[in-house]
Amino acid sequence: MELSPPDRVRLASLPTPLQPLNRLSAHLNGPKIWIKRDDLTGTALTGNKVRKLEFVLADAQTESADVLITCGGVQSNHCRTTALIAAQHGLQSHLVLRGEKPEVLDGNTLLASLAGAKLSFYGPREYQDQLPALLEYWVNHYQAQGKRPYLIPTGASNGIGLWGYITGAKELIADCERLGFNADYVCCATGSGGTHNGLALGFSTLSPDVRVRGYAVCDDGDYFRRKADQDYRDWNNRYYPNNQPPQIELDVDDSYIGKGYGAAGPAVFDAIRLLARLEGILLDPVYTGKAVAGLIDQITTGRFDDSHNIVFVHTGGVFGLLPYREQLTPQI
Ligand SMILES: *Cc1c(COP(=O)(O)O)cnc(C)c1O
Repeated sequence: MELSPPDRVRLASLPTPLQPLNRLSAHLNGPKIWIKRDDLTGTALTGNKVRKLEFVLADAQTESADVLITCGGVQSNHCRTTALIAAQHGLQSHLVLRGEKPEVLDGNTLLASLAGAKLSFYGPREYQDQLPALLEYWVNHYQAQGKRPYLIPTGASNGIGLWGYITGAKELIADCERLGFNADYVCCATGSGGTHNGLALGFSTLSPDVRVRGYAVCDDGDYFRRKADQDYRDWNNRYYPNNQPPQIELDVDDSYIGKGYGAAGPAVFDAIRLLARLEGILLDPVYTGKAVAGLIDQITTGRFDDSHNIVFVHTGGVFGLLPYREQLTPQI
């Protein structure tokens, strides 16, 4: 099938580099590991969300939106990225955040507030039970002021945002061709699902021999399979209404979640230290550190012994690293 992306607003610095992690590969004595540096999509726009937001912002512009409303955890990278993009385009932003209001803003929340975002904090219970109503409340609030609010779902993961990593897969295929190798696996952290789902759709269409594995950082495999189904249907309805929605066997590994979203165990902090020390690469405890801890565990236990080349997609998250300073401070 020919995949033709809709309009996008160019926001990310693309293509991002694809680099070999030679010292990590030697250390693990397994397949060659490569890293797709989507932490370098931009200094403040670092990470994966900006790829999806290129397409989502284009859609918001067709609706003449002047306020972007979105939601996520207190340290949401997606919310920070949305706030900065809004500022870059002269739009207002409003973030509906899961978590009690902190005394001092830190990490992503601090940056979002610098970019002028309005922040609303809700306790985890209220957020979980009431999110659609909370979002509707703020949409009505801005409409009553004569504004045109545009609602972006968690992680910009919907049928529009899917294009971010369908086109990301295409970019990665070109990277591998240029560097002269075939990827056996492409791996990433999965949170709201859009990155993994986009990559899975992109690769299954353009280069089906490449397997795509997502390491869940919250929620189980069934949740992510349902979410993928929903995203693919939404995508299909919007862009290919005459086709059947894609049927893709999603490879989600939910065995490294630990105690839940944002809760990182020792293996995650070990992975963060290892990558920083061996490769000068900064991971984060919520997403990339968890996924790399899973990848390292599976390489050392022989689960990738049939693979020669693995690409890990570094989805960013560096600002989310800093609020974990206490767990990361070495004993000195
Ligand atoms: C959001 C995020 C992810 C997960 O991507 P999804 O598309 O939401 O699954 C991974 N890593 C980082 C750093 C993120 O901010």
